[in-house]
Parts: sequence; C-alpha cells; structure tokens
Amino acid sequence: RSGRSAALRARMEERLLGARFRYLNQQLYTGSSRDAERLFRADPAAFHLYHQGFERQVRRWPERPVQRIVRYLRRRPASLVVADFGCGDCTLAASVRNQVHCFDLVPLSPRVTVCDMAKVPLAAESVDVAVFCLALMGTNLQEILGEANRVLRLGGTLMVAEVASRFEDTRAFLKAMTQLGFRTVSKDLSSSYFYLLEFAKTGPARPGPAPGLRLRPCLYKKR
Ligand code: SAH
Repeated sequence: RSGRSAALRARMEERLLGARFRYLNQQLYTGSSRDAERLFRADPAAFHLYHQGFERQVRRWPERPVQRIVRYLRRRPASLVVADFGCGDCTLAASVRNQVHCFDLVPLSPRVTVCDMAKVPLAAESVDVAVFCLALMGTNLQEILGEANRVLRLGGTLMVAEVASRFEDTRAFLKAMTQLGFRTVSKDLSSSYFYLLEFAKTGPARPGPAPGLRLRPCLYKKR
C-alpha cells in the first residue's frame, strides 16, 4: 500500500515538474533574452528545473545536437577559439581541445561566464567559431545574432543547431542571415529533430529589419 502511494506521489511530482518546465520554456521562447535574464536572476531554482526538463526532452532524441558540433570541431584545428552561446552544462567545452568561452544565464558549471548572450564580454572579432546549440531562444534574434557577428572575425564560422519544427520558412531565414552578414556554407536538414546550419561571416550585420529571421517558439506537448 505504501508502495502504491509512493508511486502516485512520484507521478504527481513528475506531472508538476513537467508543467513547470513547459511554462518556463514558453517564457524563454516568447520573451526577449533580457526577460530570460531577469527571470533566472530572480529565481535560480527555476533555471535548474528548466535544465532538468531540457535534459529529459533531449534524451529522447536519437542524437544530441551538441555531439554533432563536437564532431565538427574535432575535424578542425584545435587552435580555433570558440564562443558557446547558451552553453548549458558546457558539454561542448568539456569535449574539445579548443579554448571555449561559455555563456549562459546561470552557471551549471564553473566554466560559465554568466551573461545575457545578447551582450557577451568579448572583444570584437576575437573568436573563430560561434555556436548556438538549441540556444536561439529570445525574441530578439537579430540582436543576438548581431552579437555573434560582432565577436566573430571575418570569415569565422557560425554554427546553429536548432529544433527543425521551429523553422517556418528556411529559405527566408537563410536570406535574412545574409543581411546579418552570414553566408550559408552548409545545411543539414536531414534530421526530423534538428537542423544543423553552418555559416561564414562575410562582414558586419547590415542594419534594418530582417523579417525572414522569425523562428517559431519550441513548445513541448504535455505527455
Ligand atoms: N547548448 C546546450 C544547452 C541548450 S539549452 C546544449 O546543447 O546542451 C539552451 C540554453 O540557452 C540554456 O542553458 C539557457 O539557459 C540558455 N539561454 C537562454 N537564453 C539565454 C540568454 N539570453 N543568454 C544566455 N543564455 C541563454
């Protein structure tokens, strides 16, 4: 009998965690990166809960996108300096020999520099590879990608791994990226879970609206 009530309790806790995760996730995708910063600064426990939920989602996938980025970096010189925007638990930094600047809102690892990714403490043109692995979350995408452009050297690489269902119009998105100073080098749209896009910086971002840059929020279904 006590076994049954423990199981019930565990199931209710699970449901509650799931509901809180979905709520936090929705806030992250429907507000600006500054709203996200405020949210987690006010409630660091919410951040840990978000990460537990994120882990549970991604574990269901056949392959973790960050592993694709690890493989990519291992094929390139270890001397390249990397910036990981929205680094989470720093799996990337822990898996490659490169110097990796890790940015997130709350430190899950001592490697993390806490900041809003729309404004990172790096000098202009100081990195070779900028990474957004499931991290293009705020509604101010243009500002966030503009920051990546600022810190990348000319010809530097921008890697984006993002949930496939978020792309409403991939062509329009890639076109908007050219306006932000990024040429598409390769795109792997073969996974139904996530797209992997590689860009090269062609120059500074051009100002003005980039309407094609929209991504749908990634909202998880109740299970
Ligand atoms: N790149 C990691 C984590 C992805 S989860 C991986 O692939 O495993 C998305 C991460 O982006 C979360 O850790 C979240 O806290 C972070 N994030 C969201 N908005 C952010 C912001 N404005 N500034 C910095 N990090 C942000």
